Amino acid sequence: MTQVALEPKRVFDCFAAVNAIPRPSNKEEKMMAFLTDFGRKLGLETLQDETGNILIRKPATKGYENKAVTVVQSHMDMVCEKVAGLSFNFDTDPIQTEIEGEWMKAKGTTLGADDGIGVAMQMALLADPEAEHGPLECLFTRAEETSLGGASGIRPGFMTGKYLLNLDSEDEGQIFISCAGGANTNATFDVTWQDAPEGSYFFRLSVKGLVGGHSGDDIEKKRANANLLLFRILLRLMQECDMKLADVQSGGLHNAIPRDGSAVCCVPMAKKEDVRVLFNLLTADFENEYATTEKSMEFNLETADPTPKVFSDDLTTRLVKAVIGLPNGILAMSQDIDNFVETSSNLASIHLRDQKIYIETMQRSNLTSKRLSAVDTIKSVFDLAGAKVDVNTGYPGWHLDPSSPLLGIAVDAYARLYGKEPAVKAIHAGLECGLFSEKYPEMDMISFGPTLRGVHSPDERLHIPTVKMVWDHLLEILKNIPDA
Ligand SMILES: [Zn+2]
Repeated sequence: MTQVALEPKRVFDCFAAVNAIPRPSNKEEKMMAFLTDFGRKLGLETLQDETGNILIRKPATKGYENKAVTVVQSHMDMVCEKVAGLSFNFDTDPIQTEIEGEWMKAKGTTLGADDGIGVAMQMALLADPEAEHGPLECLFTRAEETSLGGASGIRPGFMTGKYLLNLDSEDEGQIFISCAGGANTNATFDVTWQDAPEGSYFFRLSVKGLVGGHSGDDIEKKRANANLLLFRILLRLMQECDMKLADVQSGGLHNAIPRDGSAVCCVPMAKKEDVRVLFNLLTADFENEYATTEKSMEFNLETADPTPKVFSDDLTTRLVKAVIGLPNGILAMSQDIDNFVETSSNLASIHLRDQKIYIETMQRSNLTSKRLSAVDTIKSVFDLAGAKVDVNTGYPGWHLDPSSPLLGIAVDAYARLYGKEPAVKAIHAGLECGLFSEKYPEMDMISFGPTLRGVHSPDERLHIPTVKMVWDHLLEILKNIPDA
């Protein structure tokens, strides 16, 4: 098999140089020094802000002096994951790449093409004497993969561009124009106990094997939420079997659709058989409801060791009814993009810890007002149930503007180059553009990039032919930026 050419050579040479520099999120010092050195050696104005973001300015090339300033942006950090057993230190070791057919990957680690290939394109642009463009600002942000800390720490005025091209998308042929903002609404119930009734039957209810997924990107996939299935059983047991609750441990990460959960409960011994009947009926309902999306869902009901204390009836009622009353999943679809989720909420976890029950939920929307309204809805349910509620209104979304001039330029440029229209998309998760839009509300932005697969895992790979496609698209957009 002939090896696919690594073109444009300048971009791949820059990517090799980037991959020699360790750059875990929040440990980007070596990368900051590398980029600063790179800019200064080219004789270009190179700045670093308080947050650690780097900005390199390149003047317009001949004939393009009147064009509006354009920012080209990537993030300098990378996710550091390796295969089990590999001896590799992300703080010191360079990433080793290899080619498999049309794909570049790393030997046992994340490749860091997210977003090192974006960094490499900016470096190539800065160093290329042939590229034609107006005044450029290349922005390299920090800590995108952990906290979006670089983008959120950027101050107004650091960039002066009217347009921004973000190079952190993962599908060639797609242009992103909007992202969701996110907020967290967390509730705490103080646990009050009562003696477990004499002669109770104790049992553990559990659900596992759900598909789960990212609470933004995957919320449209109509999957089940383990917390809600568990609490639907608890509600009916409470109403029909005089159930008392002794423990609940359900769900996981704050930004994931929960995949499993369990609760320890008791009922009067005389109700033991009723519990089994109800359990069988409800779990059959769930299997019917989710026959399409949940193929490996499992429910268990097993005898548990008795505990001397159980939650007070008052607490159990307030807790179970609050959870059942929470709106969850898709709350609204976009009015502008077909089949696109605009607003959602996810009940992520419910855990008894240190005499308290902690509940984590997350709300997302491409519209700030809808995000805050979803927070109010969730908070109101918890308020009514007597819980203490903490709200983190979170990070802003990137508001959809289907009439963006930059989008028009990018779509036309793509059609001229490739004879077809790119897909114009929005995502229901956070991007740095959302944070930029807060401090630079007038900035016109799009996001695009070459095709990556398996990002954030040692399986990360870059589709080599799409690098040249995106590079040519980038140059064609820059040539067509309007005058200031
Ligand atoms: Zn990225």
